[in-house]
This record gives sequence, C-alpha cells and structure tokens, in this order.
Amino acid sequence: MKDTVSLRNCPTCDGTNAVPIAAYSPDPWQIVTCDNCELTYLRNPPAYEALEEDFAWEKTYVKKKKASKGSTPLSPAIRRIRTAFGMTRDKTSSFRRWFNDGHVLDIGCGAGDRITAPMTPYGIELSTALHAHADKVMRAAGGYCLHGAGAEAIHDFEPEQFDGIVMFSYLEHETDVMGVLRGAHRALKHTGAVFVRVPNYGSVNRKVIGPKWCGFRYPDHVNYFTLETLRDTVARAGFGTTLINKVTRPVDDNISVLLRKLPTGVSA
Ligand SMILES: [Zn+2]
Repeated sequence: MKDTVSLRNCPTCDGTNAVPIAAYSPDPWQIVTCDNCELTYLRNPPAYEALEEDFAWEKTYVKKKKASKGSTPLSPAIRRIRTAFGMTRDKTSSFRRWFNDGHVLDIGCGAGDRITAPMTPYGIELSTALHAHADKVMRAAGGYCLHGAGAEAIHDFEPEQFDGIVMFSYLEHETDVMGVLRGAHRALKHTGAVFVRVPNYGSVNRKVIGPKWCGFRYPDHVNYFTLETLRDTVARAGFGTTLINKVTRPVDDNISVLLRKLPTGVSA
C-alpha cells in the first residue's frame, strides 16, 4: 500500500493546514479536519488505480458489513424512526419529478439499475465489473455508461446534456470533489437538478458511537461531510442546496440534498 499513498490538500478549499483526528485514524490512514473550511477528510487516499481493483466497492462493502456487525447500539431505535418517516422508500418517483422524466446521469452508478423508464439512464462507474454490467443495462434503455473516475469521465458528456444528475453514496468516495462538481455544473441543464446523498458526519450516531460508526470505511470513504461543509463545498462549484431529509437529518446516518444551479454571478 505504502507506494500508492500520498498526502493531499483539502479537497474543498485546497487548504494545507489540518487537525489530525487520532481516534478516527487507524494505521496507516489519516483522518483530519481542515483548519480553513472545517471539512473532515482522508489525507492519504489510495490512487484511483488501486480503488479500481483493490478497493472496489463490492469488495469493501462486504468486508465492512461483517466488521461493523453489532457495533451500533443506537441502531434499533434510529431504524424505527427512519421507518416511521418513510426514509427507506424507493426514490424513483422523486427522481422522476425532480428530473422531468429526462436524461439522467448516475455517477458511481454501480450495477446501473437506479434510473428507470421513462427516464433515460447514463452512468459513470469506476469498478470494471460493475461498469460492464451497467453499460449493458443502460444501452438497452437508450443511454450508456462510461468506465472511469467521475471527475474525469464527466467531461466526456456534452454541456447541458442532463436534466438530472445523481450522486448516490458517491461523493464520499471521490478524491477530486471540486472537479466532479464543476463537471456536473457544466453537464447540467439550467432547469436541472443534482441529487446528492452522503454519510452524515454530523449525525448523533457518529458522535455517540465514534470510531465504530457505520460511515467510516477505510480507505474508500475519503470525504466526511456535515450539512454545513456540504453546502459550502457545492456553493464553491455554483450550486444552491435544498435539504431533503429535514426532520430526520440529526439522527440519520446520511444527508440527502438537491442542488440547483445558482444564477450566474451569485456566490453563496
Ligand atoms: Zn478546507
């Protein structure tokens, strides 16, 4: 591993000063909080090439499922609250409404089945095996899937090509956060929207459970957003934020937001 590891600046503000969080940094990983913008992030992520094969989502997900079993004491109570608020329901009807049944890009699309008809699905996927599957599924539905890193591949689409862009459990994996957000801004129509769902570093569960919180996944989660740092990050790329899980967000392990392009010349 050691030869693929390098230290990076803050992915949001490019700051170099950061405070290490020892309790969340199992050797050799370094979790830090930026002195300038307060984003918490992994300072020494593996290179893309390593993520593509060695740390592909389908492998680390299984590993984490086993490792965290029984380590979340608040979970039963919180699961009941989530169910009561309908937080586990299928997002298809929301996507259809937000994205006007149009052309929708799913970044980090996995198996490629999240965007369904009458929407036309497009995707970007880093994992070789998942990409092959997703491309087949999407071509059958009128779109296609590109193989590669989100921040790079997104520039291969046309400006204002999409009515919607989905970043579902994706942005926490992306080392080039500003790159992919700027790419999304370019690829999105003015009437379009971006759905973002990331682990909620500001959740009660993380504060109580600490190092064993389900949102920690080493090394494939490289950014740990709170609602505040997420708002700040996307605003730097020209997006305004609407919070979706308003009521439950403090006890939710995830944050869900809808981004829309800010009028030109406005900065949040
Ligand atoms: Zn920063």
